[in-house]
Amino acid sequence: MSISSPGSGADADSAKRLSRSEHKISRRRIDENTLKVLYRLHRHGYKAYLVGGSVRDLLLDRTPKDFDIGTDATPQQVKQLFRNCFLVGRRFRLAHIRFGGDQVIEVATFRRHPKPEEFPEDPDEHGFFMQNQFGTPREDAFRRDFTINALFYDIADFSIIDHVGGLDDLEKRRLRVIGDPKIRFEEDPVRMLRALEFSARLDFSLDHSTLTTITEQAPLIAEAATARIREELLELFRHGVGAEVLQQAQTLGLMQPMMGGYMPGKVTFRLLHEINRYFLKLGKVDEAVLLATLFIDHFWQKCPVKASIPINEVVQSAGHLMTPYCAHFHLAHGLRHQARELLVGCYRFARGLGHRGQKRFLQNPVTPLALEMFRLWTEASGGDRALLGTWQKALHTRDEISHQPSRDATRRTRRRPRRRRQSNPA
Ligand code: ATP
Ligand code: MG
Repeated sequence: MSISSPGSGADADSAKRLSRSEHKISRRRIDENTLKVLYRLHRHGYKAYLVGGSVRDLLLDRTPKDFDIGTDATPQQVKQLFRNCFLVGRRFRLAHIRFGGDQVIEVATFRRHPKPEEFPEDPDEHGFFMQNQFGTPREDAFRRDFTINALFYDIADFSIIDHVGGLDDLEKRRLRVIGDPKIRFEEDPVRMLRALEFSARLDFSLDHSTLTTITEQAPLIAEAATARIREELLELFRHGVGAEVLQQAQTLGLMQPMMGGYMPGKVTFRLLHEINRYFLKLGKVDEAVLLATLFIDHFWQKCPVKASIPINEVVQSAGHLMTPYCAHFHLAHGLRHQARELLVGCYRFARGLGHRGQKRFLQNPVTPLALEMFRLWTEASGGDRALLGTWQKALHTRDEISHQPSRDATRRTRRRPRRRRQSNPA
């Protein structure tokens, strides 16, 4: 089957369909509210499909992160069916259906890939050159990025619809771009990063020609919206593949254009593996830790511990080092500040105990996190474990002391003797 174009034929004619008995997706594994939305759309005569990553993950026996819905109802028609529905997005209207708590189910009308003459000159606020063009389900499958991300689950008969050969690729555990990778990466360079991400997350192969195309098209990613790159980077670390993907991005020449010209050092890559494991254990990504990690090699070069640089200069150097990167990604001041504190904390740890300001440093709320980072750095770089142990002990002692009622506190609560009232001399 060709995956180069949706063609103009009847919509589902050339699609492969797996009936309920031929696949293993059970409705029990689909979120209850998503099922409600699918059923209501279907009852009102609309097509209602589960789309995107959720179908892929269910077929792979993985737990989907979210469930997205595709339909031929327009956003307005969806809104009429659900009281709890809000339309969002300027260029492409999407329906968000809210349920108790903070669950939001996204319902998107099938859309097609715009023709070249329909491309706007400027990207939208998300960096997309897309326009609001409704399409058929088949066209909707073809505008997606990878074959395995373009499968549909039809609530009408619980079948799976495959327009692009995604089922075969799932079986063979390979990630394939829909259409010509060169064109699809030109349209949206973030797809190059997504290709590395999905291949790492699912442990799927990427064929040689796609990898070569990434190498050729890598510079294009410099033009992608930084907000999207930043979000994709965080996503990599949420899924535990950040270190692996960044390493591969570096090999393919994607790293520097993606990072606004910045290239982390060697130990950073080793540290990223430790950091990624740490984030998984923590259950979230700490962006300040990530930012500080990206700069730690260059930081040590600028502020070698042996040079005994005064702390205020270390603070300045750490700040200057990150400034161009932070400006490129429009990072908030608070985030930069915390990353800088972490680097300076690592410096204080590396130079050892007994320096001025140590007591205050140990009281600083960011110090335990900096020590965690220093620990991981020690592991990654084969650093001084004895030194690490000494600091861990110092911090532990501080905690013990701070949990004991301090002498000051007891003194403060002690009742003061009443001052004798002075008798009025008058
Ligand atoms: P997960 O949510 O588990 O990370 P996902 O496949 O659902 O994976 P999303 O980023 O949530 O990924 O996107 C939902 C779907 O939208 C994708 O499965 C894909 O079909 C489509 N999609 C997302 N980004 C692009 C893109 N840049 N180009 C084309 N299609 C895309
Ligand atoms: Mg998703």
